[in-house]
Amino acid sequence: MDLHRVAGLLVITAFCGQSQDAPAPLNLNGILVQCSNESRPRECHNSQVAMRLALEAIRPALRDWRFVVVPDNRWAQTCATFRLERCVLAFSHLGIRATYLNSRLANLVEGPHWDEELARFTPLTGMPRLEWVLGHELGHILCGTAAEDIAEDAGNRMRRSSSHEVTCLQTDRFQAGSHSTLLVRR
Ligand SMILES: [Zn+2]
Repeated sequence: MDLHRVAGLLVITAFCGQSQDAPAPLNLNGILVQCSNESRPRECHNSQVAMRLALEAIRPALRDWRFVVVPDNRWAQTCATFRLERCVLAFSHLGIRATYLNSRLANLVEGPHWDEELARFTPLTGMPRLEWVLGHELGHILCGTAAEDIAEDAGNRMRRSSSHEVTCLQTDRFQAGSHSTLLVRR
């Protein structure tokens, strides 16, 4: 079974399986923010609000893209479905124009326990962490690259630029070969 077929099945499942109580996908000028099924309505709503605030701050030049927030207890299965080499907390699939995020990244309320895995991922917390993650993924998407350094650089520039334009560095010193972004060429 090829990757497109697997991904397509997942998307169909996600739409059909959405509970009636789950908030509808949020449409931000052509960018959809939705929760996978199994998401609890209140958590989904909070995630969508956080994602909207972060995307409004970054203002990416992007249309026809979906951001899917997946509950932490379903994240390992999501990684397995997409056959990620390493189950990182966010990844983008350029073929189906979607970015998947572990719901912990969109949870802006810090719990009583230290989240060691997130702390290893980045020292940032709350909204700055979400904006950083989205900026990085948008770097992959808008630069059309799997190279981590190019995506990181583009994301950082985008977040700091008042023009919100994306700049994609292309030099030999950047290494391609990402675990977190799947490049599927038709
Ligand atoms: Zn990356």
